[in-house]
Amino acid sequence: MLEDKNPQLTPISSLGEFGLIKHLTERFSLNNSSSFLGIGDDAAIIDAATKKVVVTTDVLAEGVHFNLGYVPLKHLGYKAVVTNLSDVAAMNALPTQILVSLAVSNRFPVEALEEIYEGIALACKRYGVDLVGGDTTSSNSGLVMSIMALGLEDEVNLVRRSGAKAGDLLVVTGDLGGAYMGLQILEREHAVFLANPNMQPEMNGYDYILERQLKPEARTDIKPILEALGVRPTAMIDVSDGLASEILHLSDQSGVGFRLYEDKIPIDPLTFATAEEFNLNPVMAALSGGEDYELLMTISAADYEKIKGHLDFTVIGHAVEAEQGNHMVLAGSGELAELTAQGWDAFLKNNRR
Ligand code: ADP
Ligand code: MG
Repeated sequence: MLEDKNPQLTPISSLGEFGLIKHLTERFSLNNSSSFLGIGDDAAIIDAATKKVVVTTDVLAEGVHFNLGYVPLKHLGYKAVVTNLSDVAAMNALPTQILVSLAVSNRFPVEALEEIYEGIALACKRYGVDLVGGDTTSSNSGLVMSIMALGLEDEVNLVRRSGAKAGDLLVVTGDLGGAYMGLQILEREHAVFLANPNMQPEMNGYDYILERQLKPEARTDIKPILEALGVRPTAMIDVSDGLASEILHLSDQSGVGFRLYEDKIPIDPLTFATAEEFNLNPVMAALSGGEDYELLMTISAADYEKIKGHLDFTVIGHAVEAEQGNHMVLAGSGELAELTAQGWDAFLKNNRR
């Protein structure tokens, strides 16, 4: 954390609200033709032509969603954008614009906000989205950041949570549980640091899962891949809260149940090894850890051959009739354990490791 007592740092008050906005946003340019008017007027103008506009927003509050003790500000800005882009991707749309609103206490110097905007700019560049506006205000307690993302898409391409049918395959991109295990490392090393500030943090060898936690990516690459394969998901959601919770959302909104196969859940070897180190169940990290920002979708069973063997996709189960409920088929025994938003019942009952 930057200290406001440091004389080299610039207090926000020295720039004033308008000076600050100008200072933070002058490096941004508009690159999408749908960004008709950007920062500077009372509102931005989007040219949606014949497309539907996908809109989403997320609020992040210091101490609730992030801890500045171990989350660098640049990463915070990047991640705040990515989580919104992930929601747009989960509608099968490509994000085109964002708006950024900040409530910030005067204990933050201008340099801290610059770092946040550096992360925001990186994400804008990486994903080809334009910053077209926002709002800036002061806060009495810490930092609150709200980001809104927009995406434009032809109506036929949009995918909701509600389209899954019994017999559809349940498919997830990438691997799961890594972001949660990355957080365990950060929290452990932060606690060590608080106990003894002279201790060097032990972060070597954990790169992949630390990156999954600190610098997640939105799977905007999946839409063109699916298009090239000729696959349109019947339902889709992004994995922000954990696989179990997202499956239950699809179940709820589609009116189907799911069978999830424990031994099919994609888990990276480092996630696995770190879970062992913490005496945690890696499957639990995947089911209830969250923040992986992968896409969970259902596809017609007829499309199986199209995605079979594709490295971006893993078939982890299938949809069943709603009356059959939501269960995980346990590895080895083949027993059914009921899925709950926290994970699965057998885990809670038997404290199975
Ligand atoms: P108003 O008073 O009409 O709300 P503001 O002074 O808040 O206008 O904003 C002026 C312009 O700067 C607007 O285009 C707004 O979208 C943009 N803006 C304000 N704060 C931010 C911010 N934190 N990030 C990006 N753009 C911002
Ligand atoms: Mg305003």
